Amino acid sequence: MSSGAGAPGAGEELCELCAAPAGTAHRHLLDLADRELRCACRACAVLFDHAAAGGERYRLVPDDRRLLRDFVLDDTTWADLNIPVQMAFALRDSAAGRTALFYPSPAGAVESPLEEATWQRLEEANPVLRGLAPDVEALLVNRTGAAREHWLVPVDDCYTLVGLLRTHWKGLAGGPDVWNEITDFFTELRRRSRTATSADHPLRT
Ligand SMILES: [Zn+2]
Ligand SMILES: [Zn+2]
Repeated sequence: MSSGAGAPGAGEELCELCAAPAGTAHRHLLDLADRELRCACRACAVLFDHAAAGGERYRLVPDDRRLLRDFVLDDTTWADLNIPVQMAFALRDSAAGRTALFYPSPAGAVESPLEEATWQRLEEANPVLRGLAPDVEALLVNRTGAAREHWLVPVDDCYTLVGLLRTHWKGLAGGPDVWNEITDFFTELRRRSRTATSADHPLRT
């Protein structure tokens, strides 16, 4: 997978905590102070993985992808969300104490208003959402083409998708290039994901 946060073709990315080379498939830390992702080398990722202690400023983005079988999101609820594209992601914003909903656009991630009641209905229908790791894990919805797919993904995957639209979108409809990139993104995500049920009891460590 290509790296998400860095500029395309920027060459080797450095760890933004210790300046060591981060490697191409590196992990990210969410900087909670300004809600930016920071590239992390392996050593720093391991360090912060154990850091419920040092975790006030940085939170390690998980490396776990789940394709949710039997997720309940009907067409009416989807229409109520007012997402102008066929993709969206939602995450718990712990600082704001609410769930934030975004969609990818050629101009970057755009926030769309989400009623807390709508999210609560989704949580009731899909208990696995109650185990969503705050700030660093997202529900990702893919309704492009014939797809009706729902995933729990690390938030940096969502920004990889946002980056694809920003980089490859042309004209009004996006053009074939961006749609090929989006198809490849979801194919790769499918390959890397395990399957889980939306009714999973959300007890997680
Ligand atoms: Zn480092
Ligand atoms: Zn990075």
